[in-house]
Amino acid sequence: MMHTTLRTDITIEQICKGFVYNEFEGKGLFGLSGKLVIQPEYQRNYLYKDAKMEADVVNSVLKGYPLGLIYFNKVGEDKYEVLDGQQRITSLGRFFTGKFPLFDENNIPRYYNDIIKDSTKRKLINETPLTIYICEGSEDDIKAWFKIINMGGIELNEQEINNATYFGPFVNAAKAVFSNSHDSNIQKWTSYVRGDVRRQEILNIALKWVCKSSDNKDVEKYMSQHRDNADISELQNYFTSVIDWVSSVFIDVKPFMKGLPWGDYYEKYHKNAYNPQEVSSKLQELAIDDCVKDSGICEYILGGCKDTKLLHIRIFQEPVKKKKYQEQTKLAKSKGTSNCPYCASSEGSNKTKIWDYKDMEADHVTAWSKGGATDISNCEMLCKPHNRDKGNA
Ligand SMILES: [Zn+2]
Repeated sequence: MMHTTLRTDITIEQICKGFVYNEFEGKGLFGLSGKLVIQPEYQRNYLYKDAKMEADVVNSVLKGYPLGLIYFNKVGEDKYEVLDGQQRITSLGRFFTGKFPLFDENNIPRYYNDIIKDSTKRKLINETPLTIYICEGSEDDIKAWFKIINMGGIELNEQEINNATYFGPFVNAAKAVFSNSHDSNIQKWTSYVRGDVRRQEILNIALKWVCKSSDNKDVEKYMSQHRDNADISELQNYFTSVIDWVSSVFIDVKPFMKGLPWGDYYEKYHKNAYNPQEVSSKLQELAIDDCVKDSGICEYILGGCKDTKLLHIRIFQEPVKKKKYQEQTKLAKSKGTSNCPYCASSEGSNKTKIWDYKDMEADHVTAWSKGGATDISNCEMLCKPHNRDKGNA
């Protein structure tokens, strides 16, 4: 059973008193003179990435627009957590503490201290009351309800859920390193890994690498084992080793390197010796060959340039085409149909036409762009008109 009370006596100024903002994680922590926790563990991260959205919240107040309902969870005598409205409160708090300006009609930045020199604006910003529902209930009630009201919002991703489930010293220490958007290493990391720092996606990759698994069950196991331990050196060292290894083997940074399974590559290849100059020239050579799929180039080089399958080469070799042509033509002649399967199944005049080798082209049965191999099992000879109709796969 949940009990709710409506309060309209708390002003923006009161809410913003004692506002604390965590620059590293980019989120608001406390307000209401220390009586309000803005981001309880089960809340999602502060997600207003766009500075304009923050400014919109403040501009709405200045225009007298309502900010909408805000929900607090009462957790003790005059102690609250924000259930819904965290992003609006953080925007207001950040404005109050001079973290961002509004731009006036001449595009001049105006910070809080400047804007409140105008008494009308000061009154609007400081004295506007918020519409707050205070909820009281069991933890289960509150969490169940939180899930419902957040269905319209951004869903928590895998790692955000992991962090909420296993919160404790390990998560705090790991977040300080891997979700610190001000860390100068992030730029280097994001040449090789794909993900949003603030949404814990880099941490997720680091955990998967150290677990040597892409299965979240293994990540959960690792987090549960280390939950009460603030020592994250194993996680951190492993991640750094992978990144350092990649950047020393590949002295060039190419866009297609972002998001490759570097943890797997590290496990498979880090004991081999490479000459970075040779690696670089091989990479340059392959990266401009448009018959080769970029995503396989790095592993192809790491494996000693032997496994051409990794390159997903697009062009069929001449002997493959000839063999396939002979097979198809022999079968077609025995059935009295065209050796182009498309002609054979058509009703046109070419239904029984046997095309010459020079008038046919090789086609991927499963498209190359969809990962279809360039080998005889995925090769089909089509007459030139039909192959061109089909488009280049
Ligand atoms: Zn045809």
